[in-house]
Amino acid sequence: MEALLTSLIIEQFICRSDNFCVILHDPMTGETASIDAPDGERIAARLDSGNWSLTHLLITHHHPDHVEGIPALTKKGSVEVIGPAAEAGKINGLTRTVGDGDSFDFAGRTVKVISTPGHTAGHICFYIPDEQLLFAADTLFALGCGRLFEGSPEDMLTSLRKLGTLPDATRVYCGHEYTKANAAFAVTVDPDNSTLADRVKEIDELREKGLATLPTTIGFEKRTNPFMRADDPGIRKALGLEDATDLEVFTALRAAKDKF
Ligand code: ZN
Ligand code: FE
Repeated sequence: MEALLTSLIIEQFICRSDNFCVILHDPMTGETASIDAPDGERIAARLDSGNWSLTHLLITHHHPDHVEGIPALTKKGSVEVIGPAAEAGKINGLTRTVGDGDSFDFAGRTVKVISTPGHTAGHICFYIPDEQLLFAADTLFALGCGRLFEGSPEDMLTSLRKLGTLPDATRVYCGHEYTKANAAFAVTVDPDNSTLADRVKEIDELREKGLATLPTTIGFEKRTNPFMRADDPGIRKALGLEDATDLEVFTALRAAKDKF
């Protein structure tokens, strides 16, 4: 069992302008999944180069930059296209709809569905406990969170808190490479956080080399991502919101980032 669980290959590359394609491949079973379908041609090319055939498409939400590749990726072979029941009417090509607490099998692992409304009303994340892997798409970013297109600050705060209950070691893959811009904002609201300052240096180095700053981890985000730290005294002081509720602090953070 251990050998099987250590053999999952994870490929991540930037596509479009700042989206991530993430492909999972299990050499034991041959099962292959793509998290969302931002660029069907590029994902198909990567699959071909590994002689992999897509078995699963895991769709997190209905935005075009996450679903546009579905037709290109499902025209050959049978692909299970799993996406949020709450957005089924907005996503063409789903073969299976899921909601919070549902689970399904991928390559012998259980994949759990976590509903995380906020960015969109039906956004879901995919969590593989056996691998300590989370695919957070546009809910949680490294040092940031998704914009609130369809949800309230309270929705997003609740969603991020849910993700915050996962083990610290959980590796987190996200929908976009936004880390540098997020870092520039984070240091303005959390100026005395030395873990964050160290991380910003590392992020600059990675981006200078054209490398991805992801995956991150839940533990790392809890120490450095202002949107997961609404209770932090330093952030509250920087915002002049020492006595506010966590929701008020979070709302102020999201509004400030939108204008940053
Ligand atoms: Zn989106
Ligand atoms: Fe997106």
